[in-house]
Formats: sequence, structure tokens, C-alpha cells
Amino acid sequence: MSQSENVILIRYGEIYLKGKNISFFENLLYSNIKYALKGIACKLERLRSRYAVSDYASDAEEEICVRVSRVFGIHSLSVARKIESARQSIIDTVMKISPKSGAFRVNVKRADKKFPVHSQPFSAEIGGLLSREYPELSVNLHEYDFEVNVDIRENGYTFVFTDKIAGPGGMPVGSAGGGALMLSGGIDSPVAGYMMAKRGLKLCAVHFHSFPYTGNDAKEKVKKLARILADYCGSICMIVVPFTKIQEEIHAKCDASFMITVMRRFMMRIACKIADIEGCGAIVTGESLGQVASQTLQSITVTTAVSTLPVFRPLIGMDKEEIIEKARKIGTFETSILPYDDCCTVFLPENPQTRPRLERAEYQERELAVDALVEEALNNLEYIHINPHSESGQTH
Ligand code: ATP
Ligand code: MG
Repeated sequence: MSQSENVILIRYGEIYLKGKNISFFENLLYSNIKYALKGIACKLERLRSRYAVSDYASDAEEEICVRVSRVFGIHSLSVARKIESARQSIIDTVMKISPKSGAFRVNVKRADKKFPVHSQPFSAEIGGLLSREYPELSVNLHEYDFEVNVDIRENGYTFVFTDKIAGPGGMPVGSAGGGALMLSGGIDSPVAGYMMAKRGLKLCAVHFHSFPYTGNDAKEKVKKLARILADYCGSICMIVVPFTKIQEEIHAKCDASFMITVMRRFMMRIACKIADIEGCGAIVTGESLGQVASQTLQSITVTTAVSTLPVFRPLIGMDKEEIIEKARKIGTFETSILPYDDCCTVFLPENPQTRPRLERAEYQERELAVDALVEEALNNLEYIHINPHSESGQTH
């Protein structure tokens, strides 16, 4: 296994806009990158307003790039050659690593003011040498296929790179606090979790499970979705709520048309309590306005009425097609479409209320021991720790 001469340069995005507290975001991003690289032998360093990964085995480079390119808060990364700051070795390296055809421009940054050639003439010299050596290359400062970057640092070394891999953008996970994601096995909720983690929420996942109506494969499927999410947002504590008794009680004591409304109010109450226990300040759901009966404005109003925390619904204005596209991109779609029964599909009424009124929902709950049922569910939670880049969650 050979040691790479390359260094992976990592740039952050929106953190730039932060003022005095920028170091809080920089430190958090540093630990999130470090966590993402867990298990790979390498060195992670902080440079001014960026990070660098070095001292890794050549064959680990691709995996490092893949992992880092999923860390929220990162704008882009580049695989660079790290060489001594000497004119000839810079030129030799550029000649070696540059693509051999296409339009390009040269961008020399001279942080080391002692380097004898100024940025502008050095850029022009490199551009000239490249296009003379490779006739299929042409300089175009405005419309270029790639950029040759020469970054001459203060301490005697230079980074040379031509490629830029896009990062996911967003804010470092954890910078916005915690969020309890209501995670079903469907297409929408994993996407919702991804979007809020991207804005800096550290997720825990709450899943309602109605054994034996929903089997072990349903739970395994949700675990798999949480694992895919964990590759982006770090470890996730997944909490499985036993929901069978509540559903049976609702089924026995409420009008069929209110089954879903009342059930969703229970989910919201329990999710808020779990969020409190886990130190989360918000609930996240995959609802999209008007998608199904339980996601009309009136249904959402009646569900929100029992919440004690802000409810983030990042998909609220998105079409199903747009959500699917995003699910494909983040890699949850193929798992989401595997067949399974969600607790929402158990006892599904033929004509659910699309415009439930709050008083009527409350009236439907009159014969239910709401607090006791919530309490009992909370006393029987199952905790599953989901790690990124791993095959199985650990139950405790
Ligand atoms: P999804 O694709 O996320 O399952 P959906 O279109 O099937 O969404 P619903 O079943 O009405 O919609 O659920 C709306 C939201 O409620 C989900 O996005 C999710 O946040 C939450 N939810 C639904 N079922 C469960 C469950 N079993 N456990 C946890 N949350 C759930
Ligand atoms: Mg669902």
C-alpha cells in the first residue's frame, strides 16, 4: 500500500458569513469531518479558512473524497499535489497533472510574498507553457473547462490542483441544535431529515412501530434508511415507539374517519416528549401540503395543535416528483420503495377526514386515556444506535 503524495483540500461554504463566532462553526466542522473519516488512517489539519487531509494510503483517496463530500458545511474539495515552493517543480507538476485538452485558465495565489515571481506573470507563463506543450489546450479566462490552481503558501510549500469536487453546502450538523425526525419507511421523511441536517440540526429518529401489524422487516428498512442518512449527518439515535396498543384503542373507540387524525396527534405528542428527553428543540416531518388526507392544511393544523415544539416540514412546498429526485440523489429512494407496511397503513379507513375540525378531533379522543397511553409508550422505547459507514445498528 503506497502512501499518497496528495493532499485533499477542503473549503467551507456559508460559514464564511459568520462573524465573531466563526470559530464555533469551524471547530464543529472540523470534528464532523474527523468523525466522517473515522477508521481511515490519515491526518486532518486546519489551514486558514480551510482544512487538509494528508498522510493517507493512495487507495484510500477515493473513499476519503466520497465521505468528505457528504459532510454538511463543505462547499468543495480538491485533490492537490503538495510540493516545495520552487518555480521549476511547480511548472513540472502542472505539466504532469493538467488535463491535456480543453479550455483552461491559470490561477496563481501567492500567499508567500517572498516567492520571487508575482502571481500575474507566473499565471501567464504557466498558461503559455501549457498551451505550447499541448496543442489541444487553449487559454480562456471566462469560459473554461478547468482551472489550474497554484497556491503558494507561506511555509515553503505549494498546492497544485485542477479539479474541484462539490460538497453538499449547508451548515455543520449540530450547529443549529437537535431535531427529532419522524422517520417512516417512505420516500419523504428521509429527504426531510437530510434537508434539516443540512441546515445544521443533529437528528435523532423517531419511528412508530405497530408489531405484529408491521413486521421486523419494516423496522429493518427504517434502520437502513437511518444508516444512509448517517453517512451525511453522523451517528443517529433511532428510537422505536411501540404503537400497537394506541392504534388498537383508537380503532376501538374513535370513528373510522378520524383514525388517521387521532393517530397523528398521538405521534406528535410522543415525538415532542421524546424530543424533550433527547434535548431536541424541534420536530421534523416529511409532510407536503395536500399530498394525502393527513397533510391538508386542516389536518396539519389539528396535528400541530398538540405539539409543544416548532415543527419543521421542509418538503411542504415540494411536489412528489421533486422529492423523488432528491431521494434518488441522496441514495434513499431504492430503499424507500421496498415493500413494507407502515403503521399508517394499518386500519386505514376508506374515507379519512380531509378537513378535520379541532373540536371534533378532541371529541373523538374523549374515551381515550391519552396521557396514560403516551406514558406507557414512552416507558417501552427501544433505542438503536446507528453509525455511519457500518452494516448494523446496536440495540441497547
Ligand atoms: P413518508 O414517505 O415519509 O412515509 P407519506 O407520504 O407516507 O410520507 P404519511 O404516512 O402521511 O406520509 O406521513 C407523513 C409524515 O409523518 C412522514 O413523512 C413522517 O414524518 C411521519 N410518519 C408517518 N409514519 C410514521 C412512522 N411510522 N414513524 C414515524 N413517523 C412517521
Ligand atoms: Mg409514510
